[in-house]
Amino acid sequence: MVGSDGEGIGIKWQKFLKESERTCPKFELGLTFEDKGEFSEAITNYAIKEGKEMKYHKNDKVRCVVKCKHESCPWQVTLRFNKDDKCWRVSVVKDKHDGCVRTQNNSMVNSSIVAKRWKQQIRGNLEWKTNSFLEKVLTDGHYILSKKQAWRALVKAKGEIKHEAEDYFNKIWNYVLEIKRTNPNCTCEVKVSDLKENRKERFLRMYICWEATREGFKHCRKIIDLDGCHLKCKTGGQLLTAVGIDANESLFPIAYAVVEGENKDSWTWFLQFLKKDLKLGPLVQSEYTLMSDKQKGSHTSL
Ligand SMILES: [Zn+2]
Repeated sequence: MVGSDGEGIGIKWQKFLKESERTCPKFELGLTFEDKGEFSEAITNYAIKEGKEMKYHKNDKVRCVVKCKHESCPWQVTLRFNKDDKCWRVSVVKDKHDGCVRTQNNSMVNSSIVAKRWKQQIRGNLEWKTNSFLEKVLTDGHYILSKKQAWRALVKAKGEIKHEAEDYFNKIWNYVLEIKRTNPNCTCEVKVSDLKENRKERFLRMYICWEATREGFKHCRKIIDLDGCHLKCKTGGQLLTAVGIDANESLFPIAYAVVEGENKDSWTWFLQFLKKDLKLGPLVQSEYTLMSDKQKGSHTSL
């Protein structure tokens, strides 16, 4: 077995921990859960994924028996508390349904679990309204939500996404320090906005050019392609990139920046660092070919 937590006498139990397992769990003998909450979430995710409904037959301090709601169906998973390891472990698995049918109207669906399952897609589609989300869940997830559940799930997921963005910004200075500690010759610059919100700093831009790509570019053709694309997230913004072409005619990333938008000011800010990183002084500039789509400032001269 894999994913050992190393306990027991030479026995290595598989721990339930992979993110993919959380939305699409597979129950096996010995699978170990930290607590019953984790198991219960796995059961709900399994029920939603498979379009089945489950029933808790026993749920006490030492065991938890879950069966398929359809009476004649043999599907069952039993979880037992292991005193020695202080964890919950699968002791019985009958992983075959028989006689039950797939249901779209699943009583196990709730807004919290839907918010968790769909957070990643919602992150990239923040414009989704209740009705479009309902349709998406039905066509891709094959289950029906009530309008209220869909609305709640969207509110929960969007709220979490907003808080995550704030958390990420709070960690940005530690991130910069870590980059500089582990890649001392990397260029990593952050600019905060002049406008403060409730006296708090606001993120505006971040530029990164790794030492490896800067050095690698010395062996590339003297072509630099500048481009910008929209970032699909709540805070918006754009990604500016400088890309070269290597000896195999393949794209070679040189530097990139997250900025508030593509305009002359943000491109000038990006290019001043790029120029310095690639040592593009006036004497050598004519040796390089610069390509851009001439959108909103990307043709700003080096
Ligand atoms: Zn069944």
